[in-house]
Amino acid sequence: MASIRFSNVSKIYDKKNKAVDNLSLDIHDREFLVLVGPSGCGKSTTLRMIAGLESVDEGTLYIDEKPVNDLPPKDRDISIVFQNYALYPHMTARENLAFGLKVRKTPKEEIVKKVNEAAAILEIEDLLDRKPKEMSGGQRQRVAIGRAIVRNPGVFLFDEPLSNLDAKLRGAMRSEIAKLHKKLNTTMVYVTHDQVEAMTLGDRIVVMDKGIIQQTGTPTALYNDPENLFVAGFIGSPPMNIYNGFIERKREKFWFTHINQAFSIALTVEQSCKIFEGDRVSMGVRPENIILSEADEKQPLTGEITFIEKLGHENFVFVNLGGEKIVARTNPGVNNLLSEQKTVSISLNKLFFFNTETGKRII
Ligand code: ADP
Repeated sequence: MASIRFSNVSKIYDKKNKAVDNLSLDIHDREFLVLVGPSGCGKSTTLRMIAGLESVDEGTLYIDEKPVNDLPPKDRDISIVFQNYALYPHMTARENLAFGLKVRKTPKEEIVKKVNEAAAILEIEDLLDRKPKEMSGGQRQRVAIGRAIVRNPGVFLFDEPLSNLDAKLRGAMRSEIAKLHKKLNTTMVYVTHDQVEAMTLGDRIVVMDKGIIQQTGTPTALYNDPENLFVAGFIGSPPMNIYNGFIERKREKFWFTHINQAFSIALTVEQSCKIFEGDRVSMGVRPENIILSEADEKQPLTGEITFIEKLGHENFVFVNLGGEKIVARTNPGVNNLLSEQKTVSISLNKLFFFNTETGKRII
């Protein structure tokens, strides 16, 4: 069992901008929870408080329902894996793996057994006699993870463990870590600034900004139902297209009009029920919910393609819509007709609306 609870926890280095501000969060036993957000949003500080490497300045942190604010790191049954591996350079992989157990006076036979087990799980048996400088970045990171595994902790913490690896290796290690979670069936808390890593690994994701939780949910919930502008813009690549504007009434209908009058979109009756004339709102539409077609006078929106980014399996099409940029994700198979400089009709599906001032989602 290892559940973690933050109850109104703050970390204060600077009184005006708390690094972590009144955080309340339940991390369930055996869950893979990812903390994600831009640099400086307080993710590492949150993680380090769980490990006991940072003190809790306000509120209470519980592990398995016991308050641990004053419990030293060594008594917390937790292992942490860092971005920079933190291996001892003069020791072989085997010695690095065994070190923590030796310090705890684990019997020799048990150390050998545990080291071999961890090496088998991570497929690093062939590397055990090498020193860190004789290994690649990915291999070093495996040893660092192995060092956490041998201790058989109740909770694994990962602090941006893949940031030093190249893109290909990062993808491979990402699936290794997902497999590891299935195999070990332990609580894991993982910090990253990379939303793709967060979406692919997390059972649940916590999106943070400026020390505050913006939203907690499954990857699908965050993508389909962002609660505010921050989450809407942070989750998704390319990001959601977002435009500031206002609601006006003309020709018996409500319209969203872009702040610089770049375009106007008639709202459905259902949408009109939730917003009022004069409201300042921001409208969002995801790139895959934009359909581009041959220019057609009957369609209300038209624009000109300025650039096409071809990725092979999909294209990102940049369109100039009344002076504003809009990015569409298209399937290259069905959209071979599209070319730069071409005028196209634009139809927008699944619109999101947010209160521009508070950022809160309205529809
Ligand atoms: P993240 O992991 O999301 O990049 P951090 O948790 O490392 O963010 O930092 C959150 C905020 O706290 C940042 O503004 C950072 O500058 C500040 N901070 C972190 N550690 C310290 C420290 N030891 N002393 C003072 N400020 C710190």
